[in-house]
Amino acid sequence: MPAASVGAPRQMLRRLREVMAEHESAQARLDKVVVLIASNIVAEVCSLYLRRRDGSLELVATEGLNPTSVHSTHLKPGEGLVGLVAEQAEPKQFADAQHHPAFSYRPETGEEIYHSFLGVPILRGGHTVGVLTVQNRTMRQYGDEEVEALQTTAMVLAEMLASGGIVGEEVTAETRRDANARFEGQLISEGVALGHVVLHEPRIVVTRLIAEDVELERRRLLQAIEDLTTQIDDMMERGDMARAGEHREVLEAFRMFAHDHGWRRRLDEALATGLTAEAAVQRVRNDTRARMLRMPDQRFRDRLHDIDDLSNRLLRLLSGSSAETAATGSLPDDAIVIARTMGPAELLDYDRQRLRGLVLEEGGANSHVAIVARALGIAAITQCKGVLEAVEAGDAAILDAEGGELHLRPTQEVISAYADKVRFRARRQAQYEALRNVPPVTLDNQRVGLHINAGLLFDLPHLDQSGADGIGLFRTELQFMISSTFPRLDQQTRLYKAILDAAGDRPVVFRSLDVGGDKVIPYFRSGAEENPALGWRAIRMALDRPALFRTQIRALLRAAQGRELRIMLPMISDVSELRMARSLIDREVTLLKKHGRSEPKTLMVGAMIEVPAVLWQLDSVLTLADFASVGSNDLMQFLFAADRGNARVSDRFDSLHPAALRAFRQIVLAAEKHDVPLTLCGEMAGKPLEAMALIGLGFRSISMAPASVGPVKAMVLSLDAGNLKEKLEALLESKTTSVREDLKRFAAESGVQV
Ligand code: PEP
Ligand code: MG
Repeated sequence: MPAASVGAPRQMLRRLREVMAEHESAQARLDKVVVLIASNIVAEVCSLYLRRRDGSLELVATEGLNPTSVHSTHLKPGEGLVGLVAEQAEPKQFADAQHHPAFSYRPETGEEIYHSFLGVPILRGGHTVGVLTVQNRTMRQYGDEEVEALQTTAMVLAEMLASGGIVGEEVTAETRRDANARFEGQLISEGVALGHVVLHEPRIVVTRLIAEDVELERRRLLQAIEDLTTQIDDMMERGDMARAGEHREVLEAFRMFAHDHGWRRRLDEALATGLTAEAAVQRVRNDTRARMLRMPDQRFRDRLHDIDDLSNRLLRLLSGSSAETAATGSLPDDAIVIARTMGPAELLDYDRQRLRGLVLEEGGANSHVAIVARALGIAAITQCKGVLEAVEAGDAAILDAEGGELHLRPTQEVISAYADKVRFRARRQAQYEALRNVPPVTLDNQRVGLHINAGLLFDLPHLDQSGADGIGLFRTELQFMISSTFPRLDQQTRLYKAILDAAGDRPVVFRSLDVGGDKVIPYFRSGAEENPALGWRAIRMALDRPALFRTQIRALLRAAQGRELRIMLPMISDVSELRMARSLIDREVTLLKKHGRSEPKTLMVGAMIEVPAVLWQLDSVLTLADFASVGSNDLMQFLFAADRGNARVSDRFDSLHPAALRAFRQIVLAAEKHDVPLTLCGEMAGKPLEAMALIGLGFRSISMAPASVGPVKAMVLSLDAGNLKEKLEALLESKTTSVREDLKRFAAESGVQV
């Protein structure tokens, strides 16, 4: 028997494509495919096994084995040499297969006369969905070229299977590992959403697999890699990776890969077998994923994302697709967006009307994207590990943010269970709505101001819907973050005026531009920083670049003619910053008068208390400030030195830690002493139990996401603040890491709705 040799692999691929395109039954096409491969590899046997839902492998087509064994031979997971190839997801060959310990003898196939065996996995996303084998009578070694050709064929088959090309009624490959799957995550924003999955970074579907001109494909790939490298270098230089929620580390990993010789060589080899540039990228991604998925070290598995992101970027460049995210594409009207990470501005790119939910794999629950999700009032969870691995665009999904769960491709029972839950929520929502015009007064007659946090025009209806007392925090940076250039004076004026018009006589607190950290303005180059949260941000930027700050103040003054204007300054760390900002504001007022424009009726300038150093400057800060608001998100981050955007540490310390409560108490006492109005506008204000603690500590005004007003008001109406104050005083001295359980007990015993 002559040594087998590969016919021209490209020619075989072309034939393969023709066979697949024929208008015959799936089975007939598969039967032709195995004949084609056998003749090209000069093998007596070629068999195709596909993975079933239960993990077994079914023989679905063969040339050379007994035809009656097709569809009747099933191998259990891991059984036989075929099972071994599937499990290890890599090519295996044996010159004397029958004497291999893993060999499983199946008399119905008649394979006992074949000695040599070569099997390659059919991979999708790094997971084995089938196995392709060839066998010969002689004990022979298959050459590298043959292995390569068989792998390429397997890849083309995988893509065709996935695009439905050969899956018919007769032959169905179960390419998904789980039909329905459940994932757990951490709550960002309450709600239950039934909808369909949209991948924030759409996966490019490779449709052109077989090259017409190999040299051309090689040039295309080289060009794309070059463009990609420039893109990454640019991103690193601009330091704008936080826009996409990416970290420097991720970009470094990209860069490493883009320059990796092994990766480049594998791409080259894939091209040489006759694949297009896109298919080569896909093929190498699959193989690399398959290898990494089997590595015992979690750190390697974590890097899977990097390969995916990098391959996706490359595929986007190759396909000439400019769309970076799904936000610009067409969305279903019940979109549940799934992403690894996302920046706040990216979430705002989505059409609010179609957005039902957000699921993130990474990122803290108090990160800015989380805040935007709450502001949008969509159900959202984070820390949903492994979900991207299991999901495909268009999958049906149920997001239960309350329970911190995501159900993919849910069964009918799960769907009906959730339909009940949605009805229950609607009833509760109706109860909250009934409270809309009820003033938030505690059982012992304490009036508590409940305000909303807002930032964009779409927040306006929330003011009436929630029945809130006003806007306790208007995050002006959101307008800057969603623009493609600096909003001009008149654009800013228009937005602020619209907000004031809508608020009527309800107060609005405009916070001056608070950018930096993870709040990035894409068109504003501020340079990369090692520690952006501790870097050049908020008031620091305003004082160093007064032109920006003054324009904003001018817009606010113009918008507020004849009305009350409250301006709040973020990230004050030293009283001198407050003084300097005030004098810049005064200059603008003088200018306004000089130009004969009318002034606001009253002007109040407040300070945020969110940097711990202010705790020891309360007397001087509160003497100078007309009002103050505690930014508990940042204050917690800095008090406990725990990055609010990093889920690994952001939840390590509870905001109900006695140390935090003592800090809040100290602020309340100082504000009372100076008779300065005080609010707290961090995320904790929107959680009924935390809000209850704040009231117990003496806060009489808090500001929260609009959806929280109902639940927090229900709590206020059922609370005796005097009782709680006594209880809390004792708890302030507690030696525990959190008084949460004590407060829950208090609430349960005294019938407070939390
Ligand atoms: C805070 O820090 O608590 C706050 C309200 O501001 P931001 O979340 O926008 O930093
Ligand atoms: Mg803050």
